[in-house]
This record gives sequence, C-alpha cells and structure tokens, in this order.
Amino acid sequence: MPELRQNFFTKEWVIIATERAKRPEELATHRAAQSTPQFVESCPFCPGNESKTPPEVMRMGEPWEVRVIPNKFAALSSEVQPTRGLQHLRRRIQGFGFHEVIIDTPDHSQCMALMSDEHVGKVLIAYKQRYNTLSADHRVNHITIFKNHGLDAGASLQHGHSQLIATPVIPSQVRQRLHEALRHYDDAGECMFCHMVEREVEEQTRVVLKNEHFVAMEEFASATPFATHVFPLRHMASFGDITETEIMSLARMLRVLLAKIYVGLENPDLNFTIRSGPAEYAGARHFHWYVSVIPRLTRVAGFELGSGMFINTVLPEAAAEFLRQVSIDKAAAAGE
Ligand SMILES: [Zn+2]
Ligand SMILES: [Zn+2]
Repeated sequence: MPELRQNFFTKEWVIIATERAKRPEELATHRAAQSTPQFVESCPFCPGNESKTPPEVMRMGEPWEVRVIPNKFAALSSEVQPTRGLQHLRRRIQGFGFHEVIIDTPDHSQCMALMSDEHVGKVLIAYKQRYNTLSADHRVNHITIFKNHGLDAGASLQHGHSQLIATPVIPSQVRQRLHEALRHYDDAGECMFCHMVEREVEEQTRVVLKNEHFVAMEEFASATPFATHVFPLRHMASFGDITETEIMSLARMLRVLLAKIYVGLENPDLNFTIRSGPAEYAGARHFHWYVSVIPRLTRVAGFELGSGMFINTVLPEAAAEFLRQVSIDKAAAAGE
C-alpha cells in the first residue's frame, strides 16, 4: 500500500507510491556507452587551454591536478557591494557574491565515480580551502558547493567540474531547516542528526556504506529515488571543520557511492551538494553538515510544483539494498 512519510528535518511529506513501485534496476538509464577522449582541443578546462578561462584563484599540483577559477559566466559578482534597498515591499541587494568553478581533473574523460580515492581527496581539499577562504569574507552569509553531472543535471560542459556559489543572504530554505534543527535541540537537548544517524546505523536497513568516519544512507522519507545522504559520524556543524583524515575517508566513501550509482544505474545524470551550516555555525551543537547525492532519474511534474510534495516510486529500503549489492570493479572496491 502507498505510504506517506515525513522528513524528520524538512518536515516535508513524501508519498512512497508502492502501487507504482519500480524495481530499482528499472530506473537505469540504459544509455549507449560513449567513449570520451582524454583531451578535447576546444575544451576550456583541458590542459593547455588555461588562458581561455579567467585567471585561476587556486591550483593543486604542478602540472595542475585540480584548478579553481572564477566562473566566466558568474551568477554573482565580487566587484559590487551587497548594498540593500527597500522600496515598498520590493527588497533588493546588489548582486554581490562569488561564483567559482573547481575543475576536478585535467583528464577530460574522467568523472568522480572513476577517479582514484586520492584524487577525489584533492578535489575535497580544494572545496574546503575555498569554503574557508570565502567564509572569512564578512559579506558572505552562505556557501553552496555542488556538482552537476550530465545535461539533465544542468552541466553545460562535459569536462568534470564542481561549483561554489557564495551569497550575501542565507537562503530561506536553509534558514528554515536551521530553525527546525534548533527547535529540536531546544526540545530534546541533542543534535537531531546525531540521533537519527545513530538509529539508522543500528537498524541498517537504509544504510548503504559505513566506515570509521562516515555513513551513506537512503533517507527514510526520500523525495526522489536513490537520494543518498552522507553524514559525518562525528558531530560537526560546518564542512569547514573537516579534518585531513576525515577528508580522505569521505573521498573513499563518496567515490565508492558514486561508482555504485554509476555501475548500478548506468551513469545517470546527478547532482551532489554539500549542505553545511553557515561559517559562523562552526561549533554549533544543533546542526550537522552532510553531502546530499541526488541521481536525476525522474522529472519534477505538476504535482510536485503545485504542492512541494514528491511522489517517490522506489522504496528507500529497496534502494539501499540495491546499492549495497552493486559490485564495482576491483580497483574501485579497494576503497570500500
Ligand atoms: Zn576538457
Ligand atoms: Zn550532530
């Protein structure tokens, strides 16, 4: 029978529609395998074309292994000040912010699911450094780090890259969730995420992967099939506080998880995003950062737009079971 489940954090209700239930493998993309070259002459992110991008703000390795550049088509500009204006009910702020591109690798054909753990670690180190550097700017109120993999996930360039957008405001969706977490802390005297993670690890049914520092799990009230969250086991409110050891541990888990999705669902388009409390939340007891990995297997339609409520056709428990069983190649499995 269908079931409504409530997300413990966002309080959104989700319809888990078992009547229309799909077996996880039915959602695989079945896309024809393409061979992607390692170097594309016209690609601005390929080595040798560095002059086609704005001057870099960070590079790792020589020759470079990871590069960070300002986005050439930035959504926001660091050249203006976040001056606020209010006229009647119309509130506006000058379009201040930072929009950066992290070029994950010099190899045009690589994607994170197929990289070495060590290289994914380097990308995460670049995320952390840019996160902490930009967080120190008092005009920045929130930073989103995200990846769009594939056309349906919004990637306009094929060469593997991630993005960071620093905004002068805290998005209301984020603010609402911070309030919810604070309310729980006030009521129960504990971090709601620590509590949830502890229970899920005990119950196992929605857990996909676990190592010393992280756990990857399907959400109980997952809005879309295979939406997977990776939580640090240690309480930490801000991504900026991750240690070097934890970065390598997260790199290993993220790469294995992405490889399982890549193999099991045949390289679907996907987004992932790091959901961190704002920088000044470092040390906060009520919030807990995590990585959200969302394969783009279904389309948002009228009901979702009209109600904000999602219909998920795959049981989160079945998705976890499926991902646990996907075997990735030997090299990849070494990271498990
Ligand atoms: Zn390229
Ligand atoms: Zn916590």
